[in-house]
Amino acid sequence: MANIKLPAVRMTREICRKEIDEWANSEDTRNLAFLDAICQAFQNMVKEYYRTGLTPDNRFERLDDIRRALTEIGFKDGEKIFTLAPKVDAEERKTCTPPLVCKCGACE
Ligand SMILES: [Zn+2]
Repeated sequence: MANIKLPAVRMTREICRKEIDEWANSEDTRNLAFLDAICQAFQNMVKEYYRTGLTPDNRFERLDDIRRALTEIGFKDGEKIFTLAPKVDAEERKTCTPPLVCKCGACE
């Protein structure tokens, strides 16, 4: 294994503090933190909904309901669509590109 040791990047505490504060106080950082929080809250609720299914069959039905609901959501920016739905061409062939992989009707 090639293990190398790089020289440490030295910075003053003041510069480091200023750079972190600028990053932390940016509107995008706050918005993305909010986006992370609401996605995580939704994920937690969806997992709880899945887990409270009484039987394996019921939990699988819930999984499929969740998958279907999520693949119905999309956001469009010009020609590009941001969605978990599989990307298909006119002949219904899947066209999603690596690293995306289609599993069970969802592209991840
Ligand atoms: Zn896909």
